[in-house]
Amino acid sequence: VTEVIIIGAGPYGLSIAAHLGSRGVDFRIFGRTMFNWRAKMPQGMLLKSDPYASNLSDPGAEFTLEKYCLREGLPYHEDAIRVSVEKFVAYGEAFRQQFVPAVDERLVVAVERTANGFSAALEDGEIVMARKVVVAVGISDFPYVPPVLAQIPDGYMSHAAQHNDMAAFADREVAIIGAGSSAVDLAALLHENGASVRIVARRSLVQFHGRADLHGRPLLARLQSPNTGIGPGWRNVLYTAMPHLFRRLPQRLRLRIITNEHGPAGGWFMRDRVVGKIAMLEGLAPRAAEVKDGRVQLHLAGQDGVQQTIAADHVIAATGYKVDVRAIKFLAPPLCRQIELIGQAPLLSHHFESSVAGLYFVGPAAAASFGPMFRFVLGAEYTAPRIAGHLAASLGRRPAARGSSLAVGGWGKEPNAAAAQPAELQ
Ligand SMILES: Cc1cc2nc3c(=O)[nH]c(=O)nc-3n(C[C@H](O)[C@H](O)[C@H](O)COP(=O)(O)OP(=O)(O)OC[C@H]3O[C@@H](n4cnc5c(N)ncnc54)[C@H](O)[C@@H]3O)c2cc1C
Repeated sequence: VTEVIIIGAGPYGLSIAAHLGSRGVDFRIFGRTMFNWRAKMPQGMLLKSDPYASNLSDPGAEFTLEKYCLREGLPYHEDAIRVSVEKFVAYGEAFRQQFVPAVDERLVVAVERTANGFSAALEDGEIVMARKVVVAVGISDFPYVPPVLAQIPDGYMSHAAQHNDMAAFADREVAIIGAGSSAVDLAALLHENGASVRIVARRSLVQFHGRADLHGRPLLARLQSPNTGIGPGWRNVLYTAMPHLFRRLPQRLRLRIITNEHGPAGGWFMRDRVVGKIAMLEGLAPRAAEVKDGRVQLHLAGQDGVQQTIAADHVIAATGYKVDVRAIKFLAPPLCRQIELIGQAPLLSHHFESSVAGLYFVGPAAAASFGPMFRFVLGAEYTAPRIAGHLAASLGRRPAARGSSLAVGGWGKEPNAAAAQPAELQ
């Protein structure tokens, strides 16, 4: 029996755990640390988010990626030096050791409501009871494959999330469907590992983000379009500085923003590794597919009526993720049905609580309520102190006393007093 269960030990789950620990809340956190970054992203990938916007959140805001790099003697720059996925996983692991030593690696397989809260069944059959549950599963259950690709037989088609070892496709012909960073990253890495790669993109042009160049941009350009951790522009200022206001926008507008803004694009630093090196079939989308003589035949069509058929040994759907509460495997259908939705995502209170009292959602699942920042690690800095403050207050916890043995501070320090206040009181 515990007070709070956190399901998921990625950037959001770990950050929330660090804040709960400092507030003296009794919690358990389940899942393999940074598992999605270890296993579902390609080895050698570089993070698209700038290093200064890729921090986990601890109570004293002490253990940033920059501090970690400094401690380990690793090169760091706020936007010019990219962070590899391996470095980010190592940072997450160091964060866990510092702030959340008791991560329980077992998976949660079923969550149900009880008279006093919830029960969570673990993969080995143990049952844990808690008053509150925080779902921090990130993108785990949401890979999206368009129906035309989904009917290609196993072994010939897979989602980008299924690949982290690029050597597996050496000397094979691969068609990657998509125009976002997953497609671009996979294409470059597979190509550099000896595969023959083509990108098939519905967009007329595969796009790349510009570099943030935090201090190099002229003042006027910065005023017209200020930098933020999710890209430049005044809209992004609103999304990053005022998620609570985003939540007050009409639901249809929120959904439109989430669906249409921050569309697919590769990182600026990938352009030279892709353009001129990898064939791009732009303005074309798969209309039908079949396997013939051991190869996938992909029939492509463009909006202008152009048709083309290509053959490949394997097709990778780099077609992203769609948040859908019903896809979360451990949520039993009766519980799922009680969750009010915005689109297919949970509708959340300003404390990230769903319409099922005591059940919270964070990370990408919170983006439809709080805005696009929550698809990125950056949103953890907003989420963790708020939800931890709310949980501590609602469980009757007083702010952790300075020197309390429960207060797990960064770098051996006590958490600062302001951070130990419930968010509502700050
Ligand atoms: C290819 C790719 C590249 C990306 N690059 C960036 C980037 O550069 N910058 C950025 O900010 N964002 C990036 N993202 C988005 C990124 O995934 C999210 O920002 C981030 O992972 C959200 O963190 P999280 O803690 O919510 O979830 P995750 O990091 O996805 O972690 C969820 C955790 O939940 C655990 N879990 C799932 N189910 C269970 C269960 N039943 N029981 C117990 N544990 C469970 C998983 O094992 C995992 O450890 C990228 C996404 C992809 C797919």
